Order: sequence, then structure tokens, then C-alpha cells
Amino acid sequence: MVQPTSIPFTVNGRAYRPPARPLAVICLDGCADDYLDAAMARGRMPNMQQMAVRGFRGMARCALPSFTNVNNASIVTGLPPAGHGISGNFFLDPETGEEVMMNSARYLRAETILAAAARAGRRVAIVTAKDKLREILSHRLEGIGFSAEQADQATAATHGISEVEALVGQATPTIYSAEASLFVLRAGVALVEKGLADCLYLSLTDYMQHRYAPDAPEALDFHAAIDGEIGRLLALGVRVGATADHGMNAKQKPDGAPNIIYLESLLREEWGPGVRVILPITDPYVAHHGALGSFAVIHLPDALPSAPIARRLMGLDGITEVYDRETAARKLELPADRIGDLVVLSARDVVLGRTPDYHDLAALEGGLRSHGGRYEEMVPFLLSKPLSAEYGARAAGDLRNFDIFEFTLNGCRS
Ligand SMILES: [Zn+2]
Repeated sequence: MVQPTSIPFTVNGRAYRPPARPLAVICLDGCADDYLDAAMARGRMPNMQQMAVRGFRGMARCALPSFTNVNNASIVTGLPPAGHGISGNFFLDPETGEEVMMNSARYLRAETILAAAARAGRRVAIVTAKDKLREILSHRLEGIGFSAEQADQATAATHGISEVEALVGQATPTIYSAEASLFVLRAGVALVEKGLADCLYLSLTDYMQHRYAPDAPEALDFHAAIDGEIGRLLALGVRVGATADHGMNAKQKPDGAPNIIYLESLLREEWGPGVRVILPITDPYVAHHGALGSFAVIHLPDALPSAPIARRLMGLDGITEVYDRETAARKLELPADRIGDLVVLSARDVVLGRTPDYHDLAALEGGLRSHGGRYEEMVPFLLSKPLSAEYGARAAGDLRNFDIFEFTLNGCRS
């Protein structure tokens, strides 16, 4: 293998000093720490257990809302949403008044660490399970970028690589599967083995975590398989950093029914039809969560004052935080022009909906497990090598999941 370059580079105010060895940062989508605990306690994740013992295992705070696109954008830029501009999967575009997906790189307001690493001479590859993330992750990237979901559509001209199925030795998986995530990790192993990349970002999907609790046999098997692929990366001499975009909690009543507050129904009844609720978890992958998460933004007609509505919402059981736009931008580090007049977070076991008709609960597979709020904020943070004294001290403070590239590149002792 050609020795990777170790030319330092700076992006978004952080300096990176990549070691002359292959690197992989992994986003374990939806991996609440309980999933690692449950699997490690049963001896199902020996490689990550070794990372915890010989390297570092801690907890980090993700960006709010605790959603996939928001946190993937944070991880690859090293910035909170106020810096990179991605505040959800979905938002109300103030210029058009329309509700639109925010999965296009045109909404990204910062450079990525990956594009900068490639400019500094690293052979960079991003592999994501869901194709919806590919455009943001591979923004201005001179390198390889493809998804498991559309692996068979990758071409050298558009994705920096072709014949991905042959490379991985596996057909393109369906997105609603454990295989969608495992394909990403296997692709990472193959890219390093073949000398095609030396700086990887591997982003999985949380389908399994939405569907299964940490101690379910399916979840344990899934995490054991993840661990096997991480073991293969470690055996290749890859320095591995792993974190999650958000955690995951059951959002159910004791009888198993989804625990939903229909915000738009409630507010329109009391304050009129002009109130609009936007659920930034909304995306095309409805079987995961039915567009139900623990975070919502509310757009009010000009005539309606926000303070009494905020007070009304804070009086409801199951609603834990309500902020006006300016406070949300400051305290939750959000882009003020891409959130509503009010931002609402709900309890550990509660999700926020629009109206009963808006959500197709029949599309949910099994009970409702979801994320988006404060209770899915703390996520695992692991490195395969021990931290230097400087980074160990930083890890003892307010470690963020979007510090993972800096810690993986700069923070290790060997
Ligand atoms: Zn996610």
C-alpha cells in the first residue's frame, strides 16, 4: 500500500494533522450506548471492547435536533447546525413558503473536512447507507462517494468509482435491512484492502435501532456483525473513530401504542388554522419512524404572539422544552433562518406529530422507537488508540460527536 500523506490542513477553524496511516470515522446511526452495552455484556463486540480498553470509550453530546442529516453534516464539518446550516431532514423554506427536503448540498453552508483532506492529498472515500445523505457528504469532494442503497448506480464519472458490487462482493441491499449498514462497512474494508482510499467516512442507517430494542436478538446479531467488520478494519492497520448521530428511545405507552402529541391539531383548534407545524424528521424512509420524532418547529402567522403559545405548550405533559426562535438559535446552536417561531422538544417516551391524518402509523414496523430530542442527545464516542493528555482533558469536558474527526486525526497517542 502507498503510504498515506500526512499534510496538515485547516477547515472551519480547526487544524487537522492526519497521521500517515489509513483512517476511518464511522457514524453508527442511531446507536444509543445501550446497544453497545447490551452487545458487549454478552461478548458480542470483542473488537469494540478492545477499543474501549486499549483506546478510548466515552460519551459525547450530539447536535440538536438529534436527527441523522443534522448530525452527519456536523460530523463532516466539525460544526454545530448554526455553522453548517442543516437543521433537519425537512424544513419550511422562507423564500418559497414550501416544505422541502434539506438533503441537497445547496443548503450546506460550510466546507467539509473530507473535501479538505482530499485537497491535502488524502485518498478520501465516503460511503453512506442512505443515498439521501450522499450529496451533502460528498460536497465538493475529489474522491469516492457512494451509497449502499444505490451501489449499483455508482459510476466513475459521478461517484469516483464503478463496479461497487464486485468490489464489495455483494449485491446492492434493500435500505430496510441490516445489510444496508453492513454493506457500508464491508465497502470500507474493501476500499482499504484494494488501496483505493486511506481516509474513510462510513455512515450507517438506523433501521435496525428503530425496529429493535438493544437486547433483542436481531439487534445483538447486527452489532456483532458491525463489530466483525470493525475488526477487519483494525486488522488492516486502520485507526478507527466511531460515534453516533443520535440515540434511540421507545416512544410508547405501556400498552405499546405510540405516545404522540398532535401539535398542529391542538394549536389550530386553539389558535386558528394559520399555525403550521414542521417535523424535521420527515424523510422518504417512513417505515423507520412514520415521521414521528421528539422535535418540532412551529411557524405562526404574524398576528399571533409566540409567548402565550409557548407557555401553553410548556404546560402540557410530555413537552419538556419550548424556545422562541432567538433562544433556540443560541441555546441549541441552530440556524435562525431555518427554524420556526417556536422550537419544541418532547419527553423520552413522547413524540410530536402534526395531525392524526398526517401520519401513517400502519407503515411503522413493530413498536415506535425514535429520536430527535434531548433524550437522544448523548451518544458513544470510541477511538482505537489512546488519547493524548491534551485530548484526554478535552474529552473530560463537553465532548461533541462532531469532534470525532479532530480526535481521530489529532488526538491519539499512536
Ligand atoms: Zn440517524
